[in-house]
Amino acid sequence: MFKGLSILEFNKQFKDNDDCFTYLVKQKWPEGFKCSRSGFEQHVKGRTWHHRRCKKCKYDENVLANTVFHGTKMPLLKAFHMLYRLTAKKKGMSTIELGYEVGVQQKTAWLFKRKVQQMMKEDKEDKIGGNADADEFLQGGYKSGKGGRSLENKEAVLIVREKLGDDRTGKIALRHIDNFAASTLQCHLL
Ligand SMILES: [Zn+2]
Repeated sequence: MFKGLSILEFNKQFKDNDDCFTYLVKQKWPEGFKCSRSGFEQHVKGRTWHHRRCKKCKYDENVLANTVFHGTKMPLLKAFHMLYRLTAKKKGMSTIELGYEVGVQQKTAWLFKRKVQQMMKEDKEDKIGGNADADEFLQGGYKSGKGGRSLENKEAVLIVREKLGDDRTGKIALRHIDNFAASTLQCHLL
């Protein structure tokens, strides 16, 4: 459940498709682009707007791969809004309502909702969030203290990045969020 959640904060952070895309790029490459195949750090434009092609080995990487947004026909901003609404309410939002609010057909809403649910279920089983890599990603929400790190504010994340060996990014997982304050978002965007 979102407590003290402000939709205004969400709207401020994600104003257009570019904002959403930039957010995903930063999830995938927090330190800047790095090719998954060669590790090279320069890229050129890829096949589509959501691809980045390595300048060295020419590997064309899909930024949306392994995210719930992969293959979604609707604009990213709409998908973000839908995800926000789906994670804000644990249950009780019909896809008719959802489609109406975001401005897509009910079928589109239904498909996306199913995808989100599927992914959240998988994440629970995979326990990506339980490993050290995800912990690192949550850094902004933690403070150091005796006995390790503690959660300063009850913050949760929207997207958790799975780190593989050699700094590669694996699955981008979804997590339920309790708080969508600007400060929470900033720690992911920085
Ligand atoms: Zn490469």
